[in-house]
Amino acid sequence: MVKITSKIDLYDQLLEKYKEIVLLNNISLLAYWDLETYIPSKGFEQRSEEVALLSGILHERQTDPEIGQLLVEIKNHKEYPNLSAMEKRNIELIQREYDQQTKVPKDLVTALAKQTALAYETWKKAKEESNFDLLKPHLSKIVDLVKKQASYIDPTKDPYDVLLDINEPGFNREIIDKLFTELRDGLIPIIQACIKSPKQPDVSILKRYCPKSIQSDIAHDVAGVIKYDLQAGRIDPTAHPFTTGFYDDVRVTVHYDENDFTNSFYGMLHEGGHGLYEQNLPVKNKYQPIGYYCSMGIHESQSRFIENLVGRSLEFWEFYLPKLKALGKNIFDDLDLKQLVFALNEVKSSKIRIFADPVTYSLHIIVRYEIEKELFAGKITVADLPNIWNQKMKEYLGVTIENDAEGLLQDSHWPGGAFGYFPDYALGNIYDGQLLWKIEQDLPTWREDMRKGDLSKLINWLINNVHQKGNLLKPLDLIKEITGHDLSPKYYLDYIKKEYAKFYDIDF
Ligand code: ZN
Repeated sequence: MVKITSKIDLYDQLLEKYKEIVLLNNISLLAYWDLETYIPSKGFEQRSEEVALLSGILHERQTDPEIGQLLVEIKNHKEYPNLSAMEKRNIELIQREYDQQTKVPKDLVTALAKQTALAYETWKKAKEESNFDLLKPHLSKIVDLVKKQASYIDPTKDPYDVLLDINEPGFNREIIDKLFTELRDGLIPIIQACIKSPKQPDVSILKRYCPKSIQSDIAHDVAGVIKYDLQAGRIDPTAHPFTTGFYDDVRVTVHYDENDFTNSFYGMLHEGGHGLYEQNLPVKNKYQPIGYYCSMGIHESQSRFIENLVGRSLEFWEFYLPKLKALGKNIFDDLDLKQLVFALNEVKSSKIRIFADPVTYSLHIIVRYEIEKELFAGKITVADLPNIWNQKMKEYLGVTIENDAEGLLQDSHWPGGAFGYFPDYALGNIYDGQLLWKIEQDLPTWREDMRKGDLSKLINWLINNVHQKGNLLKPLDLIKEITGHDLSPKYYLDYIKKEYAKFYDIDF
C-alpha cells in the first residue's frame, strides 16, 4: 500500500490517533466476542475488570483534547480548502465522533451508565414477572437523562431528532414520518390479504429434530454459497447472535436450536450478510472513518438482503434444497420445494418482534418509533406506555396483548437507553427494496443465476455499490448515488407485493 501524505501534516497525525482508537476498539470487541462464546464460567469477573479498563482507556483516547486541537488547527489551516473530498469527509466524521464523546458532561455519562445498568437488571425481573410498574421509575429517569444527553450534543435541535441522526445520519422525524406512513399504509392491506387468503402454508414441516453438528455443517456450507470468507472469519455458537470485527477478522455467531433448523440457517444468512459488508470494506481506507460502514440501517439492509431477498426466494431453494437434503442425512428428504418455500414465507400477525416474519416486521418497528416520538415530544409519559403499546399493536397488527411481558417489556433497548435505534431495522427493509430495483436493471439474470447456485454477480454488485463505498456518503446520499432516486418505500412494497402474490395466489 502506498502511503499518500496529506497537504497538511497534522491530518496524518490525526489519522494516526484515530487508528489507535480503532485498534483499541477492536480489542474490546474481541473480548466481548469471547464473553459471548467461549469464556469459561469462572472467567466472567476477570473479564469484566478487563473490559472496564479497556473502555476507560478507549474513552480517554476518544476524548483526548489533542484530537480537538488537531481538528481546530486543520480546519484553520490555509491548505484546508485544498484537501480532497475524502480527507474532508474523514475530518467531518472524526469531528462528529469527538463531539458526541466530549459534549456530554462526565457526570451525565456516569449517571446514564449507572441508571441503564440498574434498569437492565430491573427489566429482566419485570419481564419475568410481567410487571411494567417495576421498570417504570427507572425508565422515566432514563428518558430524562437521554433527553439531556441529546440536548448537550446539539442544543439547536429537537432531542429525538438528535438521537435519530446519531443512529442514522441525515435522518429526522420529518423524513422518517413520511417513509413510515407510506410503508405502514402499504403493508397493512398486504398483510390482511395474506392472512385472509384461503391458501395457507403448512409450517409444521419446519419443526423437526436436527442435531447441532448437522446444523453447523449447513451453516458452514451456506456461508460459502453467499461468499462469506471463512479465511477471514469464523462461525461460532452463542445465545443471541451477532457479528463483530472488520476486514480480515469478521466473526459471525449463530444459535443452534435442535428443534428448529431455520433459527441457525437464517441466523447464518443474516449475520453472514453483516459479515460480507465488514469483510469487503474499502481496504485502502482501513483504519480511517471512511473505511467503516455507512450506518446501522445500511448494515441491516445488507443482512436482510441475504436473509430474506435471497434466502427466502424460490430460486435460492431450487438450488439449495438438494444440498440441504444431502447435508441433512435423511432429515429433510420429505421436503417439497414449493411447500418449503411457502412455509418459510408465512405471513402472520405476531406479538414478538424477533419472531416476526419479514412482512409484518416493519410494523413492529413503526409501533416503537411512533411511541418514542411521542414520548420525547412530551405528548405521552412513561406511565402511558403499556396502553399506547397495546392499542397500536391491536390497530396495526390485530393482536391483543395480554400482559406486559409479551408487550412492551419484550425488548431491552429502552432500559438500555437506546432510543432512536429501532427505525434502523425498518429502514434496512426500505433500502433493500430500492437496491433490488436497481439490481433487477443491472443484473437482469440474477434470479436465473441464483437458481444455478451462482451468487457471484449479485455479491459483487453489493460489494462494488455498497461495501466498497465505506462511509464516504451519508445513507440517503448513498442510496441516491446508487439508484439515481430519493429514498422511497414504494420499491420495497412492490417487491413484497410481487413475491407474496406468488406465494399466496393473490392479485394485489
Ligand atoms: Zn442485523
